[in-house]
Amino acid sequence: MDTQLDTAPCGYFSLSNKGIIQAVNYTLLQMLNFERDELLNKHIETILSVTNKLFFHTYFTPHIELYGQVDEMYFSLRSKDKQDIPVLLNGIRQERDGISCIDCVAVAIRKRIEHEKDVMQSKLKLEELYTATNEANKQLELLHAEYERKQQELIQINGELESFANTDALTGLKNRRYFRVKLLAAFAEFQQEGTPLSLLIIDIDYFKKINDTYGHPTGDLVLAGLAQLLQETSREQDLAARFGGEEFVIMLPGATADEAVRIAEQYRIAADMAQFGGYKITVSIGAATAVQDDTKESLLEKADQALYASKSNGRNRVTHADEVNGKP
Ligand code: GH3
Ligand code: MG
Ligand code: MG
Repeated sequence: MDTQLDTAPCGYFSLSNKGIIQAVNYTLLQMLNFERDELLNKHIETILSVTNKLFFHTYFTPHIELYGQVDEMYFSLRSKDKQDIPVLLNGIRQERDGISCIDCVAVAIRKRIEHEKDVMQSKLKLEELYTATNEANKQLELLHAEYERKQQELIQINGELESFANTDALTGLKNRRYFRVKLLAAFAEFQQEGTPLSLLIIDIDYFKKINDTYGHPTGDLVLAGLAQLLQETSREQDLAARFGGEEFVIMLPGATADEAVRIAEQYRIAADMAQFGGYKITVSIGAATAVQDDTKESLLEKADQALYASKSNGRNRVTHADEVNGKP
C-alpha cells in the first residue's frame, strides 16, 4: 500500500467477496488500535459488534451486491479494546487483477455525534426553559388578575371609607366636616368669580321637648325625617348637611340674599307641613349672603346671628343676616 493511502485522513480497508480483510491502512489501524497483522486475512466481523454484524450482513452486503456500492452509511466499528467507533462508511465493488473486491473508506464521526448530542441537549434544555417560561407567564397572568381585583377592591373600600368619613350616621346627610370643606371651596369661587353665595342654618324649635316627651329614639326619628325632607327640597346645586345636634346647614351657591330668603321660606314651610312619624315640628332659619369682606367663619357667624333673631322673634320664621345688621 502506498504511503499516501496508508496515512490518508480516513480509514481504508478492502474486503474479498467473502468479507475477508485484504488490505487495511494505518489510519484505520490507529482508529481501532489494532496491529496490521491482527486484521489482515481476518473476517470483517473482527471489527464489528454483534448488532453491527447483523446490520452488515442484512444491509451492507446485499446493497453492494445489488447496486455495487454503499454511500454514507452510519456504522459502528469495534476497536481492539471493544469500544464502538462510529464511522461514516462508503463501500464500492471493484475489479483488480480480475478479482472482485470491495473497497471501503471509514470516516470517524465521533465529534459529529457528540456535536449532535450537544445540539439535542440544548434543544431539550430550550424546551424545558420554554415550558418553564410558559408556566411562569401563566402564574404572572394569574397574579396580575389577582392584583387588579385587589386594586378594584381597594378603590371601592377607599370610596366607602371616604363616604363614611363624610356622612352623618343618623341622618345619612353629609356631615359638618364635609360641609366646611365644600363651603371653603364655594367661598373661594365667590371671591374669585363673584358668584353669589348664601347659606342657611336651620334649627328645630323646642326639640328638647320632643326628646323629653317621647324619648330620644323618637327624637332621632324626627331628625332623620327632617334630614330627608331637606334633602328632597334642596336644589341640585345646594348642599344640605347636618351641622350638629338638631341643627342643619344648607349651602346655596349662586343664591342672592333675596333668593336665599325665598328658598329658606320653602324649607320652613315644608317642615311646618310635614309629619315625622306622627310628630310635628317647626324650624327657625337664619340666612346669610357673602359679601367681599366675609370669611367662611364670618358668613357662618352672620347666619347664626340671624337664626338667633328668628328664635327671639317667636321661632318658625326666616331671618336674613342683613335684617339683623340693619340692611334693607
Ligand atoms: P330651641 O327652639 O331654642 O332650639 O330649643 P331646643 O329645645 O330645640 O334647643 P336646645 O338646644 O335646648 O335642645 C336641643 C336638643 O337636641 C338637646 C339635645 O338632647 C337634642 N339632641 C341633639 N342631638 C340629638 C340627637 O342626635 N338625637 C336626639 N334624639 N336628640 C338630640
Ligand atoms: Mg340648637
Ligand atoms: Mg332647637
